[in-house]
Amino acid sequence: MGVLAAAKQSMRRHNLFAFHEQYSLTIKYYFCGMETVVSGIRSTGHLHLGNYFGAIKNFVKMQHQHRCYFFIADYHSLTTHPTPEDLYRNVRQVLIEYLAAGIDPEVATLYVQSDVPEVAELYLLLNMNAYKGELERCTSFKDKVRTQPDNVNAGLLTYPVLMAADIIIHKATKVPVGKDQEQHLEMARTFANRFNRMYKTECFPPPYAYNFDEELVKVPGLDGSTKMGKSGAEGNAIFLADDPKTIRKKVMRATTDSGPAQPGEPVSPPVQNLFNLMGIVSSQETVAHFLDAYKQATIRYGDMKKQLAEDMIAFTAPLRERILALDADEEHLRKVARLGAEKARESARETIREIREIIGFSSAHTG
Ligand code: AMP
Repeated sequence: MGVLAAAKQSMRRHNLFAFHEQYSLTIKYYFCGMETVVSGIRSTGHLHLGNYFGAIKNFVKMQHQHRCYFFIADYHSLTTHPTPEDLYRNVRQVLIEYLAAGIDPEVATLYVQSDVPEVAELYLLLNMNAYKGELERCTSFKDKVRTQPDNVNAGLLTYPVLMAADIIIHKATKVPVGKDQEQHLEMARTFANRFNRMYKTECFPPPYAYNFDEELVKVPGLDGSTKMGKSGAEGNAIFLADDPKTIRKKVMRATTDSGPAQPGEPVSPPVQNLFNLMGIVSSQETVAHFLDAYKQATIRYGDMKKQLAEDMIAFTAPLRERILALDADEEHLRKVARLGAEKARESARETIREIREIIGFSSAHTG
Protein backbone atom coordinates (compact mmCIF):
# COMPACT_ATOMS: atom_id res chain seq x y z
CA MET A 1 0.00 0.00 0.00
CA GLY A 2 1.31 3.46 -0.88
CA VAL A 3 2.02 6.13 1.72
CA LEU A 4 -1.07 8.11 0.77
CA ALA A 5 -3.42 5.13 0.94
CA ALA A 6 -1.92 4.05 4.25
CA ALA A 7 -2.34 7.53 5.69
CA LYS A 8 -5.96 7.65 4.56
CA GLN A 9 -6.71 4.23 6.01
CA SER A 10 -5.06 5.07 9.32
CA MET A 11 -7.00 8.33 9.56
CA ARG A 12 -10.27 6.56 8.87
CA ARG A 13 -9.49 3.79 11.36
CA HIS A 14 -8.60 6.21 14.13
CA ASN A 15 -11.43 8.48 13.14
CA LEU A 16 -9.06 11.46 13.50
CA PHE A 17 -11.48 13.61 11.64
CA ALA A 18 -14.49 13.03 9.43
CA PHE A 19 -12.81 12.18 6.18
CA HIS A 20 -13.78 14.41 3.34
CA GLU A 21 -12.69 14.00 -0.26
CA GLN A 22 -11.24 17.49 -0.28
CA TYR A 23 -8.63 16.55 2.32
CA SER A 24 -7.21 13.79 0.19
CA LEU A 25 -5.38 16.31 -1.97
CA THR A 26 -3.99 18.11 1.06
CA ILE A 27 -2.73 14.81 2.42
CA LYS A 28 -1.27 13.86 -0.94
CA TYR A 29 0.75 17.07 -1.09
CA TYR A 30 1.64 16.82 2.61
CA PHE A 31 3.11 13.35 2.17
CA CYS A 32 4.96 14.37 -0.96
CA GLY A 33 7.44 16.20 1.25
CA MET A 34 7.72 19.77 2.46
CA GLU A 35 4.49 21.69 2.25
CA THR A 36 4.49 24.79 0.10
CA VAL A 37 3.71 28.18 1.62
CA VAL A 38 2.78 31.33 -0.30
CA SER A 39 1.91 34.78 0.93
CA GLY A 40 2.28 38.34 -0.25
CA ILE A 41 1.95 41.94 0.78
CA ARG A 42 0.72 44.74 -1.46
CA SER A 43 3.24 47.43 -2.25
CA THR A 44 0.96 50.27 -1.25
CA GLY A 45 3.13 51.91 1.39
CA HIS A 46 5.24 51.17 4.42
CA LEU A 47 4.56 47.97 6.35
CA HIS A 48 2.90 48.38 9.72
CA LEU A 49 2.50 46.37 12.89
CA GLY A 50 -0.63 44.72 11.42
CA ASN A 51 1.40 43.39 8.49
CA TYR A 52 4.11 42.27 10.87
CA PHE A 53 1.98 40.41 13.42
CA GLY A 54 -0.67 39.26 10.91
CA ALA A 55 1.75 37.97 8.31
CA ILE A 56 5.53 38.55 8.32
CA LYS A 57 6.19 37.17 11.80
CA ASN A 58 4.86 33.83 10.60
CA PHE A 59 6.77 34.07 7.29
CA VAL A 60 9.99 34.26 9.29
CA LYS A 61 8.94 31.35 11.53
CA MET A 62 7.92 29.16 8.60
CA GLN A 63 10.78 29.78 6.19
CA HIS A 64 13.03 27.01 7.48
CA GLN A 65 10.37 24.31 7.73
CA HIS A 66 8.56 24.77 4.44
CA ARG A 67 9.08 25.57 0.80
CA CYS A 68 8.23 29.26 1.05
CA TYR A 69 7.32 31.82 -1.60
CA PHE A 70 6.86 35.37 -0.33
CA PHE A 71 6.12 38.11 -2.79
CA ILE A 72 5.55 41.82 -3.18
CA ALA A 73 2.09 42.19 -4.65
CA ASP A 74 2.68 44.99 -7.13
CA TYR A 75 0.04 43.84 -9.65
CA HIS A 76 -2.48 44.04 -6.81
CA SER A 77 -1.31 47.56 -5.94
CA LEU A 78 -2.29 48.81 -9.42
CA THR A 79 -5.94 49.01 -8.32
CA THR A 80 -4.87 52.17 -6.46
CA HIS A 81 -3.37 53.70 -9.68
CA PRO A 82 0.14 54.57 -8.41
CA THR A 83 2.47 56.72 -10.52
CA PRO A 84 5.47 54.79 -11.94
CA GLU A 85 7.71 56.54 -9.39
CA ASP A 86 5.47 55.57 -6.47
CA LEU A 87 5.14 52.02 -7.73
CA TYR A 88 8.91 51.61 -7.95
CA ARG A 89 9.56 53.23 -4.58
CA ASN A 90 6.91 51.16 -2.80
CA VAL A 91 8.11 47.85 -4.25
CA ARG A 92 11.65 48.67 -3.18
CA GLN A 93 10.45 49.66 0.29
CA VAL A 94 8.49 46.44 0.85
CA LEU A 95 11.50 44.42 -0.31
CA ILE A 96 13.67 46.24 2.23
CA GLU A 97 11.12 45.73 5.00
CA TYR A 98 10.70 42.01 4.26
CA LEU A 99 14.48 41.60 4.57
CA ALA A 100 14.67 43.77 7.68
CA ALA A 101 11.99 41.62 9.32
CA GLY A 102 14.14 38.54 8.84
CA ILE A 103 13.16 36.86 5.56
CA ASP A 104 16.26 35.07 4.30
CA PRO A 105 16.28 35.26 0.48
CA GLU A 106 18.66 32.30 0.30
CA VAL A 107 16.13 30.13 2.14
CA ALA A 108 12.73 31.45 1.09
CA THR A 109 11.90 32.61 -2.43
CA LEU A 110 11.35 36.35 -2.14
CA TYR A 111 10.12 37.95 -5.34
CA VAL A 112 8.21 40.75 -7.00
CA GLN A 113 4.85 39.54 -8.35
CA SER A 114 5.20 41.29 -11.72
CA ASP A 115 8.56 39.54 -12.28
CA VAL A 116 6.49 36.36 -12.69
CA PRO A 117 4.12 37.03 -15.60
CA GLU A 118 2.90 33.42 -15.42
CA VAL A 119 0.76 34.63 -12.51
CA ALA A 120 -1.08 36.95 -14.91
CA GLU A 121 -1.72 34.05 -17.29
CA LEU A 122 -3.16 31.88 -14.53
CA TYR A 123 -5.28 34.84 -13.37
CA LEU A 124 -6.72 35.12 -16.89
CA LEU A 125 -7.48 31.41 -17.01
CA LEU A 126 -9.10 31.34 -13.57
CA ASN A 127 -11.20 34.40 -14.47
CA MET A 128 -13.07 32.29 -17.02
CA ASN A 129 -14.61 30.30 -14.18
CA ALA A 130 -15.03 33.05 -11.60
CA TYR A 131 -18.52 34.48 -11.47
CA LYS A 132 -19.61 38.08 -11.07
CA GLY A 133 -22.10 37.22 -8.33
CA GLU A 134 -19.61 35.49 -6.06
CA LEU A 135 -17.02 38.23 -6.61
CA GLU A 136 -19.54 40.97 -5.84
CA ARG A 137 -20.48 39.25 -2.59
CA CYS A 138 -16.89 39.44 -1.35
CA THR A 139 -16.72 41.64 1.77
CA SER A 140 -13.53 43.47 0.75
CA PHE A 141 -15.11 44.36 -2.61
CA LYS A 142 -18.27 45.65 -0.94
CA ASP A 143 -16.09 47.76 1.39
CA LYS A 144 -14.25 49.29 -1.58
CA VAL A 145 -17.54 50.07 -3.35
CA ARG A 146 -18.64 51.89 -0.22
CA THR A 147 -15.38 53.72 0.51
CA GLN A 148 -14.18 54.58 -3.02
CA PRO A 149 -17.24 54.75 -5.29
CA ASP A 150 -15.26 56.66 -7.96
CA ASN A 151 -12.74 53.87 -8.51
CA VAL A 152 -14.59 50.54 -8.54
CA ASN A 153 -12.36 48.93 -11.17
CA ALA A 154 -12.41 45.37 -12.47
CA GLY A 155 -9.10 44.72 -10.71
CA LEU A 156 -10.85 45.21 -7.38
CA LEU A 157 -13.69 42.90 -8.38
CA THR A 158 -11.31 40.16 -9.47
CA TYR A 159 -8.79 40.67 -6.64
CA PRO A 160 -9.64 37.23 -5.13
CA VAL A 161 -8.96 35.59 -8.51
CA LEU A 162 -5.50 37.14 -8.76
CA MET A 163 -4.88 36.14 -5.17
CA ALA A 164 -5.92 32.56 -5.97
CA ALA A 165 -3.50 32.60 -8.93
CA ASP A 166 -0.69 33.88 -6.66
CA ILE A 167 -1.22 30.96 -4.32
CA ILE A 168 -1.97 28.03 -6.57
CA ILE A 169 0.70 28.88 -9.14
CA HIS A 170 3.10 27.30 -6.61
CA LYS A 171 0.53 24.70 -5.44
CA ALA A 172 0.66 26.06 -1.92
CA THR A 173 -1.34 24.49 0.90
CA LYS A 174 -0.55 26.95 3.68
CA VAL A 175 -1.06 30.69 3.44
CA PRO A 176 0.05 32.72 6.46
CA VAL A 177 -2.24 35.77 6.47
CA GLY A 178 -4.17 38.04 8.80
CA LYS A 179 -7.83 37.61 9.65
CA ASP A 180 -8.92 40.01 6.89
CA GLN A 181 -7.84 37.47 4.25
CA GLU A 182 -9.95 34.56 5.49
CA GLN A 183 -12.70 35.01 2.91
CA HIS A 184 -10.19 35.40 0.07
CA LEU A 185 -8.66 32.07 1.04
CA GLU A 186 -12.07 30.46 0.93
CA MET A 187 -12.46 31.80 -2.60
CA ALA A 188 -8.97 30.58 -3.57
CA ARG A 189 -10.08 27.08 -2.50
CA THR A 190 -13.25 27.45 -4.52
CA PHE A 191 -11.32 28.41 -7.66
CA ALA A 192 -8.73 25.67 -7.19
CA ASN A 193 -11.37 23.00 -6.59
CA ARG A 194 -13.48 24.26 -9.48
CA PHE A 195 -10.54 23.97 -11.86
CA ASN A 196 -9.80 20.45 -10.61
CA ARG A 197 -13.42 19.36 -11.01
CA MET A 198 -13.84 20.96 -14.41
CA TYR A 199 -10.75 19.30 -15.88
CA LYS A 200 -10.99 16.11 -13.79
CA THR A 201 -7.53 16.70 -12.41
CA GLU A 202 -5.84 16.87 -9.02
CA CYS A 203 -3.53 19.63 -10.18
CA PHE A 204 -4.24 22.13 -7.38
CA PRO A 205 -4.30 21.28 -3.66
CA PRO A 206 -6.72 23.41 -1.62
CA PRO A 207 -4.89 26.26 0.19
CA TYR A 208 -5.73 27.21 3.79
CA ALA A 209 -5.11 30.35 5.83
CA TYR A 210 -2.52 29.47 8.44
CA ASN A 211 -1.44 30.65 11.86
CA PHE A 212 0.10 27.70 13.72
CA ASP A 213 -3.29 26.34 14.91
CA GLU A 214 -4.18 29.69 16.41
CA GLU A 215 -6.85 32.22 15.47
CA LEU A 216 -5.86 34.46 12.57
CA VAL A 217 -4.58 37.81 13.82
CA LYS A 218 -6.24 41.19 13.44
CA VAL A 219 -4.19 44.10 14.75
CA PRO A 220 -6.43 47.08 15.56
CA GLY A 221 -5.83 50.67 14.52
CA LEU A 222 -5.05 53.65 16.74
CA ASP A 223 -8.16 55.53 15.67
CA GLY A 224 -10.67 53.23 17.31
CA SER A 225 -11.11 51.16 14.14
CA THR A 226 -10.75 47.42 14.32
CA LYS A 227 -7.99 47.14 11.70
CA MET A 228 -4.64 48.82 11.34
CA GLY A 229 -4.24 49.80 7.68
CA LYS A 230 -1.67 51.35 5.36
CA SER A 231 -3.64 54.13 3.80
CA GLY A 232 -2.78 57.63 4.95
CA ALA A 233 -6.49 58.46 5.16
CA GLU A 234 -6.90 55.82 7.84
CA GLY A 235 -3.96 57.40 9.73
CA ASN A 236 -4.17 54.66 12.28
CA ALA A 237 -0.98 52.68 11.74
CA ILE A 238 2.43 52.39 13.38
CA PHE A 239 4.88 51.65 10.57
CA LEU A 240 7.94 49.48 11.12
CA ALA A 241 10.04 52.38 9.82
CA ASP A 242 8.50 55.06 12.07
CA ASP A 243 11.00 56.96 14.24
CA PRO A 244 10.45 57.24 18.02
CA LYS A 245 9.10 60.80 17.82
CA THR A 246 6.48 59.81 15.24
CA ILE A 247 5.45 56.77 17.25
CA ARG A 248 5.00 58.83 20.42
CA LYS A 249 2.96 61.43 18.54
CA LYS A 250 0.69 58.85 16.92
CA VAL A 251 0.09 56.88 20.09
CA MET A 252 -0.62 59.97 22.21
CA ARG A 253 -3.30 60.92 19.65
CA ALA A 254 -4.93 57.46 19.75
CA THR A 255 -8.67 57.38 20.36
CA THR A 256 -9.84 56.55 23.89
CA ASP A 257 -12.90 57.55 25.93
CA SER A 258 -13.54 59.59 29.07
CA GLY A 259 -12.39 56.71 31.26
CA PRO A 260 -14.19 54.38 33.70
CA ALA A 261 -16.30 56.35 36.18
CA GLN A 262 -16.39 53.50 38.68
CA PRO A 263 -14.70 50.14 39.21
CA GLY A 264 -15.84 47.24 37.05
CA GLU A 265 -17.06 49.23 34.03
CA PRO A 266 -16.84 47.43 30.67
CA VAL A 267 -13.99 48.41 28.33
CA SER A 268 -15.05 50.43 25.27
CA PRO A 269 -13.88 49.26 21.80
CA PRO A 270 -11.19 51.96 21.25
CA VAL A 271 -9.68 51.32 24.69
CA GLN A 272 -9.86 47.58 24.10
CA ASN A 273 -7.85 48.24 20.91
CA LEU A 274 -5.12 49.86 22.99
CA PHE A 275 -5.08 46.88 25.32
CA ASN A 276 -4.86 44.57 22.30
CA LEU A 277 -1.94 46.58 20.92
CA MET A 278 -0.27 46.38 24.32
CA GLY A 279 -0.85 42.65 24.23
CA ILE A 280 1.41 42.35 21.17
CA VAL A 281 4.29 44.66 22.10
CA SER A 282 4.33 44.87 25.91
CA SER A 283 5.07 42.39 28.66
CA GLN A 284 2.24 40.48 30.36
CA GLU A 285 2.99 42.37 33.60
CA THR A 286 2.50 45.71 31.86
CA VAL A 287 -0.82 44.65 30.36
CA ALA A 288 -1.96 43.22 33.72
CA HIS A 289 -0.95 46.44 35.50
CA PHE A 290 -3.06 48.67 33.23
CA LEU A 291 -5.97 46.23 33.12
CA ASP A 292 -6.00 46.22 36.87
CA ALA A 293 -5.91 50.02 36.93
CA TYR A 294 -8.86 50.03 34.52
CA LYS A 295 -10.84 47.63 36.70
CA GLN A 296 -10.15 49.83 39.75
CA ALA A 297 -11.12 52.92 37.70
CA THR A 298 -7.73 54.50 38.52
CA ILE A 299 -6.29 54.24 35.02
CA ARG A 300 -4.73 57.32 33.38
CA TYR A 301 -4.83 56.87 29.63
CA GLY A 302 -1.87 59.28 29.27
CA ASP A 303 0.34 56.90 31.27
CA MET A 304 -0.94 53.90 29.37
CA LYS A 305 -0.21 55.56 26.03
CA LYS A 306 3.29 56.62 27.12
CA GLN A 307 4.07 53.03 28.10
CA LEU A 308 2.54 51.67 24.89
CA ALA A 309 4.60 54.09 22.77
CA GLU A 310 7.86 53.14 24.54
CA ASP A 311 7.14 49.43 24.07
CA MET A 312 6.37 49.98 20.39
CA ILE A 313 9.60 51.95 20.00
CA ALA A 314 11.59 49.18 21.71
CA PHE A 315 9.97 46.60 19.43
CA THR A 316 10.48 48.46 16.15
CA ALA A 317 13.97 49.91 16.88
CA PRO A 318 16.02 46.94 15.58
CA LEU A 319 13.76 46.65 12.52
CA ARG A 320 14.16 50.34 11.78
CA GLU A 321 17.90 50.08 12.10
CA ARG A 322 18.02 47.25 9.54
CA ILE A 323 15.62 49.13 7.25
CA LEU A 324 17.98 52.11 7.18
CA ALA A 325 21.02 49.90 6.50
CA LEU A 326 19.30 47.97 3.69
CA ASP A 327 18.07 51.18 2.11
CA ALA A 328 21.69 52.07 1.39
CA ASP A 329 22.56 48.71 -0.19
CA GLU A 330 21.20 48.94 -3.74
CA GLU A 331 23.37 46.13 -5.07
CA HIS A 332 22.09 43.67 -2.47
CA LEU A 333 18.46 44.58 -3.19
CA ARG A 334 18.95 44.02 -6.91
CA LYS A 335 20.61 40.67 -6.27
CA VAL A 336 17.80 39.53 -3.98
CA ALA A 337 15.10 40.51 -6.49
CA ARG A 338 16.92 38.76 -9.35
CA LEU A 339 17.41 35.56 -7.39
CA GLY A 340 13.77 35.54 -6.23
CA ALA A 341 12.44 36.13 -9.75
CA GLU A 342 14.46 33.21 -11.10
CA LYS A 343 13.31 30.77 -8.41
CA ALA A 344 9.66 31.87 -8.54
CA ARG A 345 9.51 31.69 -12.33
CA GLU A 346 10.89 28.21 -12.37
CA SER A 347 8.06 26.99 -10.16
CA ALA A 348 5.39 29.08 -11.95
CA ARG A 349 6.51 27.95 -15.43
CA GLU A 350 6.15 24.34 -14.38
CA THR A 351 2.54 24.89 -13.27
CA ILE A 352 1.62 26.85 -16.38
CA ARG A 353 3.08 24.14 -18.62
CA GLU A 354 1.00 21.56 -16.78
CA ILE A 355 -2.28 23.45 -16.88
CA ARG A 356 -1.86 24.48 -20.52
CA GLU A 357 -1.77 20.81 -21.33
CA ILE A 358 -4.73 20.04 -19.04
CA ILE A 359 -6.81 22.81 -20.65
CA GLY A 360 -5.89 21.60 -24.12
CA PHE A 361 -4.00 24.51 -25.66
CA SER A 362 -2.47 23.36 -28.92
CA SER A 363 0.93 24.91 -28.08
CA ALA A 364 1.16 22.43 -25.22
CA HIS A 365 1.17 19.68 -27.85
CA THR A 366 3.27 21.35 -30.53
CA GLY A 367 5.75 23.22 -28.33
P1 AMP B 1 -1.99 44.05 2.71
O1 AMP B 1 -1.18 45.13 3.37
O2 AMP B 1 -3.46 44.33 2.70
O3 AMP B 1 -1.45 43.62 1.40
O4 AMP B 1 -1.85 42.78 3.67
C1 AMP B 1 -0.69 42.00 3.72
C2 AMP B 1 -0.80 40.99 4.84
O5 AMP B 1 -0.87 41.66 6.10
C3 AMP B 1 -2.05 40.10 4.76
O6 AMP B 1 -1.71 38.80 5.18
C4 AMP B 1 -3.00 40.73 5.74
O7 AMP B 1 -3.92 39.80 6.29
C5 AMP B 1 -2.03 41.23 6.80
N1 AMP B 1 -2.60 42.38 7.51
C6 AMP B 1 -2.82 43.62 7.01
N2 AMP B 1 -3.36 44.41 7.96
C7 AMP B 1 -3.48 43.66 9.07
C8 AMP B 1 -3.94 43.90 10.40
N3 AMP B 1 -4.39 45.09 10.76
N4 AMP B 1 -3.93 42.87 11.28
C9 AMP B 1 -3.47 41.64 10.93
N5 AMP B 1 -3.00 41.35 9.70
C10 AMP B 1 -3.01 42.34 8.79
